[in-house]
Amino acid sequence: MLRFAPSPTGDMHIGNLRVAIFNYIIAKQKNEKLLIRIEDTDKERNIEGKDKEILDILHLFGIEYDNVVYQSANLHMHQQMAKKLLDDKKAFVCFCDEEEINFQREKAKIEKRPYRYSGKCENLTSTEIRKYLDKKTPFVVRLKKPEKNIKFNDLIKGDFDFSPFDIDSFIIMRKDFTPTYNFACAIDDMLYDISLVIRGEDHLSNTPKQIAIRDALGYDKEIKYAHLPIILNEEGKKMSKRDNASSVKWLLEEGFLPEAIANYLILLGNSFEKEIFTLKEAIEFFDITKISRAPAKFDLGKLRFINKEHMKKIEKLTRYIGYHEEYEPLAKLYLDEVSTIKELKEKLDNIFTKKEFDEFNDEIEILKKEILDNEFEDNYNDFKNRIMNNTGLKGKKLFMPLRMLMVGSKQGPEIKDLYAIMKPYLKMIIKEYR
Ligand code: GLU
Repeated sequence: MLRFAPSPTGDMHIGNLRVAIFNYIIAKQKNEKLLIRIEDTDKERNIEGKDKEILDILHLFGIEYDNVVYQSANLHMHQQMAKKLLDDKKAFVCFCDEEEINFQREKAKIEKRPYRYSGKCENLTSTEIRKYLDKKTPFVVRLKKPEKNIKFNDLIKGDFDFSPFDIDSFIIMRKDFTPTYNFACAIDDMLYDISLVIRGEDHLSNTPKQIAIRDALGYDKEIKYAHLPIILNEEGKKMSKRDNASSVKWLLEEGFLPEAIANYLILLGNSFEKEIFTLKEAIEFFDITKISRAPAKFDLGKLRFINKEHMKKIEKLTRYIGYHEEYEPLAKLYLDEVSTIKELKEKLDNIFTKKEFDEFNDEIEILKKEILDNEFEDNYNDFKNRIMNNTGLKGKKLFMPLRMLMVGSKQGPEIKDLYAIMKPYLKMIIKEYR
């Protein structure tokens, strides 16, 4: 089984969506199930409704899953496993208070060495422990650092080897008897028989800790790992919340299609024979072991190009912009000018709203009257010649105001093409929206 384990703590980041997409693809390729695990154990950071938002996004992107679980529902298992580790002397209770830990941290900083737990509570006698407990001293549970190095192979990044010093005696249960991220995650991956963990490389340093937890519990089934390189913004820095394009919600609001965003995120840091494909097609050829190890740079221009290509494949664009099917040819005509659904909608909205201009007002009035008072010719040239003869307008003074009257802008598709398509409703537009 594979899993996608989002935290319901904010808007979905494209890096997370990319992780979800890759998990989905690999689950399909391996014919294994995909579990969605909402990692909601950090109560202070949870934001209500974000879990639902994440599931809605997965649905929108066509990422099918087999089950959804909430990590907090497994609390009793986490506590039970922590107890087992304590009983087996693989973990110990630690009464060091924050002041003491902070002091040690500062000391390490001054001495220019990485902070590690002092080991103070590791060998407390049961009498000493009892004394603390009698005084109701709060405590955390720490896993004893492993005796041997923890080694693992990452499908993308290769071999890793962490020493006990790297791993340290870290906290697995907090003072309130809730599990830390590493503990809950390691236990759940074991409980749900996860075969491969695909996640962002920001979690790489957590992996040896999670393996150490399962080792201590005697779980010997191997879980494979693939850590995806981070996504950088256009300045080459890690894409953060401050970069609008990092938010899936923002991209959708800007009019990027889910199929185009998915296409782009799969392509990012890869090179395939073809650039435009669907998620389903990617299942056929995607190979996670071939993905580039280097961080990938987000390129909005490239996403716009891919989005345009996917827009061209859509049969009924009008449905996406809330227009009647009658206007489908007009929407299609504008495809050359736009790259997103939002831009397309703006173009059509421009046509179907009252138009105000600060130039060519006289010419526009003359043209308006001329068009409304007469029948249309079949042929654009006949129409144009009649307009020129009857109004005396020509060149820039004809074509600029004519286009402005028709589409509300000086730029746009060829008037000839607009005329052919808009004839059935052009008078209505001129009457209603001028
Ligand atoms: N909840 C973690 C996150 O959102 C994911 C951890 C994991 O995949 O192991 O980053």
